[in-house]
Amino acid sequence: MIHLHDVVKKYKEMYSELGRDLSREEFITAGISDWAIRKYGGIKGIKQKAAIEELPPPIPEELKEPKILLLDIETSPLIVYTFDLFDQNIGLNQILRDWYVMSWSAKWLGSPPEQIMYADCRENIGDDTGLLSQIWQLIDEADIIIGQNSKRFDEKKLMARFIIKGFPPPSSYRSVDTLEVAKRVAKFTSNKLAYTTDKLCTKFKKLDHGKYAGFELWRACEAGDEGAWTEMAQYNRYDVLSLEEYYLKLRPFDKKHPNLNVFSDSFTNKCLCGSVQFTKHNRPAYENRAIYDRYICNNCGAEYKDKSYNLLSKEKRSSLKELIL
Ligand SMILES: [Zn+2]
Repeated sequence: MIHLHDVVKKYKEMYSELGRDLSREEFITAGISDWAIRKYGGIKGIKQKAAIEELPPPIPEELKEPKILLLDIETSPLIVYTFDLFDQNIGLNQILRDWYVMSWSAKWLGSPPEQIMYADCRENIGDDTGLLSQIWQLIDEADIIIGQNSKRFDEKKLMARFIIKGFPPPSSYRSVDTLEVAKRVAKFTSNKLAYTTDKLCTKFKKLDHGKYAGFELWRACEAGDEGAWTEMAQYNRYDVLSLEEYYLKLRPFDKKHPNLNVFSDSFTNKCLCGSVQFTKHNRPAYENRAIYDRYICNNCGAEYKDKSYNLLSKEKRSSLKELIL
């Protein structure tokens, strides 16, 4: 049996070769059986699973920049048998239904808010195969993935589902987890998005719950309540918009952020914020065995050092004694 992933991959390859939608006949001629096309939702369904409509138009080679994806998923609860409520230890044979991915929202960094992407499984509650295929394509495209608690939650949850559903590993990427960055660089009263986005964001603060408070939203979605799905979609999208704003506030402070300049062929250094205007600081950066010129971004204040030349002379360096650790 041909796997969904291979069908989607084939569609994507042919789509980018031809630069247009494929007909059913063309796809069958390319070796994908009519049975497989029907099984995976028809040509339209396969195109949707390839997330083609979600992808922005190709970027001209000379403007190539890293593709940075902001991502947030919502997962379902497990359904379990339990004899009691408090302090339970639930065995594997008490699981009635395992969790799955209910919805996802994502956005390419810097794209207009109306280009935010979202999909859920309301048409097929309990089956996340189509959603996983869409997210797989986006992750595969991305150079960097950004999320709140994404290293420990979203990315790992997705990998578990990809493995279970027989997907190959998506191409490798670098991760920026805003929760990890916030904990590393600052001590906010709370690191929850509800707190940090309320304090830091001006456009998109995390939404308060509407009609369905807390767990009720998940329960109603699983029961197929259309209003609940509308609310889920709204939260999921909004979380990604506020994640973007929050990430941009944290970024100048993140000394471990991936260097975006290595993704481009250009020799003009750009700050993380996109600015190319830097001012040389009157004090250089002093390290244990080196001194480098220091530059400050005129736009966001992020600091850079020019490691191409060590201002500390060879003689001075060889004269230095170091503490034994
Ligand atoms: Zn900057």
